[in-house]
Amino acid sequence: MRRLALNPSRGKNYYNSEQVFMWSSVTVWHEWHYTCRRKAMRLLLVEDEKKVSSFVAQGLAEERFAVDVAVDGQSGLDLATTYHYDLVILDLMLPKLDGSEVLRRIRTQNAQVPVLILTARDTVADKVGNFEAGADDYLTKPFAFAELLVRVKALLRRGPVSRSSVVRVGDLELDRLSQQVRRSGKRIDLTSKEYSLLEYLISNAGRVLSRTMIVEHVWDQSFNGVTNIVDVYVRHLRVKVDDPFEQKLIRTVRGVGYTLIQGTQQ
Ligand code: CA
Repeated sequence: MRRLALNPSRGKNYYNSEQVFMWSSVTVWHEWHYTCRRKAMRLLLVEDEKKVSSFVAQGLAEERFAVDVAVDGQSGLDLATTYHYDLVILDLMLPKLDGSEVLRRIRTQNAQVPVLILTARDTVADKVGNFEAGADDYLTKPFAFAELLVRVKALLRRGPVSRSSVVRVGDLELDRLSQQVRRSGKRIDLTSKEYSLLEYLISNAGRVLSRTMIVEHVWDQSFNGVTNIVDVYVRHLRVKVDDPFEQKLIRTVRGVGYTLIQGTQQ
């Protein structure tokens, strides 16, 4: 099948009727298929500069995102806390309510929505302050739409992110900030490698992780040591995390690797 590009400048009669029919049915099928496969993502754009907002909103709409636009901080906050959005793109210098304040308030009410800051403010202090307030990405103006789009897609692929530093699986708890681990409320002391291994397992609970994945994640890529290092460390971890408890959370998946089962899984 020939792939034909739409080129209006060449005129309607450029393709013969058979080709036009083929082209249009392929296009319709692709559009239908694409629409069915992808759930419409809904984005909120909070931007007071009309030129920027219409340029960004139009570009995102062409990428088939549903986009709502708010022109000041207060209405942006109202929308963000009333409706479900997959992503918020937020300017900082906004009328009525400053973007940083909008971000802080979004985080107190809807902790998980990813927020991308799009602003002319480019100092390190601005970036650090907004990341600390819960921004997920930061792009400074002027910007290329292509760059905004890849960042938007990257954030959407990641999906909603838990803002809590504590991850729980059943009665096992790991705090990423304090790096403390507890099970049934009892503190478990781990070495730094044991902690990294558990952190990787708990972050992927329910997923089978191969020995190679574990080595690459917990040790560095150039690790060239003994091949059973993962088994050795899993054994150490089991002694501390599983042996004293009735329910065993770390499972061996024969021939593949390991998984940390989710609390209710048997
Ligand atoms: Ca602005």
